[in-house]
Amino acid sequence: MILVFGRTGQVARELARLAPEARSAEDVPEARFLGRDEADLGDAQACARAILEAKPSAVINAAAWTAVDRAEDEEAQATVVNGEAPGAMARACAELGIPFVHISTDYVFSGEGTRPWQPEDPAGPLGAYGRSKLAGEEAVRAAGGTHAILRTSWVFSAHGANFVKTMLRHGATRETVSVVMDQIGGPTPAADIASACLTMARALAARPELSGTYHLSGGPDVSWADFAREIFRQADLPCRVQDIPSSDYPTRAHRPANSRMDNSALSRFGLDRPDWRQGLARVLADLQEISE
Ligand code: NDP
Repeated sequence: MILVFGRTGQVARELARLAPEARSAEDVPEARFLGRDEADLGDAQACARAILEAKPSAVINAAAWTAVDRAEDEEAQATVVNGEAPGAMARACAELGIPFVHISTDYVFSGEGTRPWQPEDPAGPLGAYGRSKLAGEEAVRAAGGTHAILRTSWVFSAHGANFVKTMLRHGATRETVSVVMDQIGGPTPAADIASACLTMARALAARPELSGTYHLSGGPDVSWADFAREIFRQADLPCRVQDIPSSDYPTRAHRPANSRMDNSALSRFGLDRPDWRQGLARVLADLQEISE
């Protein structure tokens, strides 16, 4: 049984679709999901205890403090959730000798240049959220157990708050939306992240030497403005996109301009970089189903 931290988030919900808790009363569950009520990442030791008590075959951490702007004002709390808790989880996994799969972010990078970031490139976070996630990465590595740190970016799905849902909302009521054109990255379907986490958890159990840091982001790389254009095209909305620089859309936290990530190391797990345009079509179909 794989133990998953997170129940309500975008990636956690997709994990639940792929690895159901139990299909029937007699069924052995593939996965168990711990929501905030059962494991609060604000209490790192409680997270470690949950793992030691459950004795799973692997752990996936799909929970995190994801409020990027709020982290600027509440960095200490964000660092407990994104830094200390994953570290405690990784140490518990190392103690049990089981793989730990942890999700991280492109925000650990500075966003300089135009070259795709390699997993081993030096980090240089621009804000508190990126620093808190980097602290998590470092704590997971320091635990010394079998692990994969999977950095991803621009996550979207039919659930929760994300760019696709915001654009669909605006696109339904406005003739034009202004969208940032000078941040480039890979929009990533939560379903592809979930699938990769499961593949990695299973592969690491047999081949711990695959431990390391990996990048998974949807291809091709694109600006937020061009991402919005494709959303409107696929959703058949007549809304126009006006390109604006980030300086015209100020936010509390600075975002990296270059979030391109080299995904090639994924091939060690037999995985390819997903095409986000296909993932977008699936999410639009999911949203259609939900609304019916
Ligand atoms: P969501 O914001 O959709 O979900 C976050 C999850 O974490 C929720 O289930 C939330 O629970 C849970 N959580 C937050 N704080 C706590 C806490 N103190 N205790 C227990 N649970 C908590 O996240 P995503 O699915 O989008 O993100 C998954 C991973 O991907 C994260 O590691 C994130 O950092 C990373 N990532 C995300 C990006 C994005 O664009 N969203 C981009 C790059 C990386 P509750 O509902 O109770 O709040």
